[in-house]
Amino acid sequence: MAEHDIVSQSGFSRPVVEGRALIGGALRGSVTGRVFPALSPVTGDSLGDVALCGPQDVDDAVQAARQCFVSGVWSRTAPAHRKQVLLRLADLLLEHREELALLECLDMGKPYQDALTLDIPGAAAVWRWYAELIDKTYGEIAPTEPGTLALIERVPLGVVAAVVPWNFPLDTASWKCAPALAAGNSVVLKPAEQSSLSAIRLGQLALQAGLPAGALNVVPGTGEDVGQALGLHMDVDVLAFTGSTATGKRFLRYAAESNLKQVWPECGGKSANLVFESCADLKQAAVRAAGGIFFNQGEVCSANARLLVQDSIAERFIALLLEEAAGWQPGNPLLSQSRMGALVDSTHTARVMDFIARGKAEATLLCGGTRTSIGPGNCYVTPTIFDHVAPESVLFREEIFGPVLAITRFSTEEEAIRLANDSIYGLAASVWTHDLGCALRVSQALQAGTVSVNTVDALAPNLPFGGMKQSGYGRDLSAHALESYTALKTRWISF
Ligand code: NAD
Repeated sequence: MAEHDIVSQSGFSRPVVEGRALIGGALRGSVTGRVFPALSPVTGDSLGDVALCGPQDVDDAVQAARQCFVSGVWSRTAPAHRKQVLLRLADLLLEHREELALLECLDMGKPYQDALTLDIPGAAAVWRWYAELIDKTYGEIAPTEPGTLALIERVPLGVVAAVVPWNFPLDTASWKCAPALAAGNSVVLKPAEQSSLSAIRLGQLALQAGLPAGALNVVPGTGEDVGQALGLHMDVDVLAFTGSTATGKRFLRYAAESNLKQVWPECGGKSANLVFESCADLKQAAVRAAGGIFFNQGEVCSANARLLVQDSIAERFIALLLEEAAGWQPGNPLLSQSRMGALVDSTHTARVMDFIARGKAEATLLCGGTRTSIGPGNCYVTPTIFDHVAPESVLFREEIFGPVLAITRFSTEEEAIRLANDSIYGLAASVWTHDLGCALRVSQALQAGTVSVNTVDALAPNLPFGGMKQSGYGRDLSAHALESYTALKTRWISF
C-alpha cells in the first residue's frame, strides 16, 4: 500500500494514532466499546479508531475531574509548581511539533507547514503565557473599617468542560485548557469528532509534563452524546464552548435545564474587511485580504469573509486581489508549497459547494467555485470570489466557513459602517486606511470583538479574543479569559 499512499509519497510515515479516551490518567475505550473512524480528508481513509464515548464515559470523566479537584493535588498546589508543569507541557508540545503537526494536517486537512509553524508553536505559546501568569495574579484587600480584613480572591470553580471545534483543534483546546488549569480547575475536554487526535495527544503530554491524573481528561465522541452530556451534567461548573452559534445556544439551554453552570460561548462569524480609498498600500491590503479568507481553507471563525471596498478603488483593488487569489490554489497539504489544503470532510465540502451554487444565482462569480481532487482526497475547493454581493443575499449573511469571499461595494464611510454592522455576528473586522480620522471613527463604530487596522486578524496570547452579538460573549486568551474560570470570593475577617 505504501507506494500508493499519499502520506509516504510525500516523505512522511503514517503516524501512530491513539484514539482512546483519557479519563483519570488512564487511556481506555468507551464503556460500550464502540468506536468511530478518524477519517482523513487527505488520505481519504481512516487514520485509526477513536473511542465513541457517551454519557457514562462523561460521568466517569467528570467524577475523575472532581476527585482531582477536591483532593487538591492540582487545585491547591503552589502557583510556582503549576507554572513549572505547564511550562514543561509547552516544551513537550514543541518537542513533539512534527508529530502533532502531522496529526492536525491528516485529521482535518490543513497544510502541514501551517500546523508546524503556526498551530503548534501558537498552542505552546499559550500554555507558556498562562504558566507565567499563575504566580503573577494577585487578589485584593478592600478598604473596610478598623478591626476587619476583607480579602477578595479569584478562586477556581471546580470542573471545567471544554467543547471545541475542528478548525484549529490543538489551539482552541489550548486556549480553553491552559487558563482553566492555570487557575487550578480540572478539565474535561471534548474535541470535535472530525479532529480528536491532537486533543488525546495533548492529554498524554500533559500527564508526561506532571499534571496529576484527572486534572485533564479527554473524552472523544459526538456532540449529541458527549457534548450534550457535558452541557447537562450537574457536576460541571463551567462550560467553555467554541463552535457554531446554533450549538452555542444549545449550551445555554443545557445550563438552564441543569445546574446553571457558567457558559462561555464563542460562536460563528462573518467578519467584514473594509478597504477605503485612503488606503495607501492597496497591494498589501490585497495580499492580506486574500490571506484573511483563504488561510486555513477559510475555515476560520474570524475569516474576513465579506470584503467591503470603496467604489473609487474597487476595480483596481479587485484586480490585485484576483492576482493574489491565484496563488492560493489548493494542494496536497503535506507538501510545503501548498498554501491551502483540504476542507475537513466531504459533508462540509458539500455544504460549501451548496453555498457556492446558491451564490452563483445571486452574485457575479469572479474566480474559483469548483471542487477538485488531489490524490485520494476530494475535499478541495478552489479560492472563490463573488462580486456585487447584495446585503440581503445568502453570501453576505451566512457563515460559509470555506474559501469563499463576498465583495460588496460602498461609496461613503457611513455606508461602509452600516454594511459591516449589518450582520447577526460581531467577531472581528479589518479596516484599511491611512487616514487616521477614518481609522479611529470606523474602528470605534464597528461592532466586533477585535478590529484590526491595516492588518487582518490581529491575535496574541495577551489580547482577548471573542465576539459581540451572536458571535457569543466568551473570551479566549489574555488575563480576562483566566477570570472566566474563576469565581470572585470575599472573605471578611473581624479581629
Ligand atoms: P459545531 O457547533 O457543530 O461543533 C462544535 C463542537 O460542539 C463540537 O465539539 C461538536 O461535537 C459539539 N456539538 C455539536 N452539536 C452539539 C450538540 N447538539 N450538543 C452539544 N455539543 C454539540 O461547530 P463546528 O462545525 O465544529 O465548527 C465550526 C463553527 O465553529 C463555526 O461556526 C465557527 O465560526 C465556529 N468557531 C468559532 C470560533 C470563535 O472563537 N468564535 C473559533 C473557531 C470556530
